[in-house]
Amino acid sequence: MTTDLINLSAPAIDIQGLVKHYGDNEVLKGIDLTVNAGEVVCVIGPSGSGKSTLLRSVNMLEEPTGGKIVIEGIDITDPDIDIDRVRARIGMVFQSFNLFPHMSVLGNLTIAQRQVKKRGKAEAEKVAKEMLERVGMGHKADAYPSHLSGGQQQRVAIARSLCMNPDMMLFDEPTSALDPELVGEVLQVMRTLADEGMTMMVVTHEMGFAREVGSRLIFMDGGHILEEGDPREVLANPQHQRTKDFLARVL
Ligand code: ADP
Ligand code: MG
Repeated sequence: MTTDLINLSAPAIDIQGLVKHYGDNEVLKGIDLTVNAGEVVCVIGPSGSGKSTLLRSVNMLEEPTGGKIVIEGIDITDPDIDIDRVRARIGMVFQSFNLFPHMSVLGNLTIAQRQVKKRGKAEAEKVAKEMLERVGMGHKADAYPSHLSGGQQQRVAIARSLCMNPDMMLFDEPTSALDPELVGEVLQVMRTLADEGMTMMVVTHEMGFAREVGSRLIFMDGGHILEEGDPREVLANPQHQRTKDFLARVL
């Protein structure tokens, strides 16, 4: 196992001129973005502006058409690198929790640890229980997903990601599928992670979270980063008319 190429003094994520086409549709039109370790970058913007494609490109669920993505000093667009090794350092949480319904919470949290990290049963269960405690779900290790609320399932999904010891976490609208009264418990877990220093990119419509937890706010529009800055600044004093229009609709 070689870990010598990973350079933790490099930015966590360094995106340079990222372009993505789907056929004739240019979805990302040259994105430049650097995320340093410990930063929480919140991404907002209208539906179809390329937010999910940007996040999915960062862990190579999408192959860029052009440009470069460098994760902890490793150019993941270089075809010769071991992408699985880099991907293992990036946790991803989606709107849909994607837990295995036929497995207990503990089973959901140990399977990837055992298969990918090659951990033994006892160690995987120890890590799983630790991560469940972190998200306030320690008492539900033996429950099945269908017996949990959406908020609890999403917290389990976050714990599942944490079991892989990621250096950074990507969240794509993690609370959008939840009933309003369940949003807060998931945001609270994310806030705690941020306070503990986790590097995060968060696509969200939760402007309160962006304002209070984000170190930077990015507004995407039509495949571009139209505006970025301190979240309080951007929200209070947007510079572009399109940002103003968007915020007027969501705030
Ligand atoms: P957002 O997350 O901001 O709503 P997306 O990144 O999901 O935006 O999508 C941006 C654009 O890319 C949209 O026009 C969408 O239809 C298109 N798109 C996304 N995924 C695919 C795909 N797999 N194939 C073709 N077009 C896609
Ligand atoms: Mg999206």
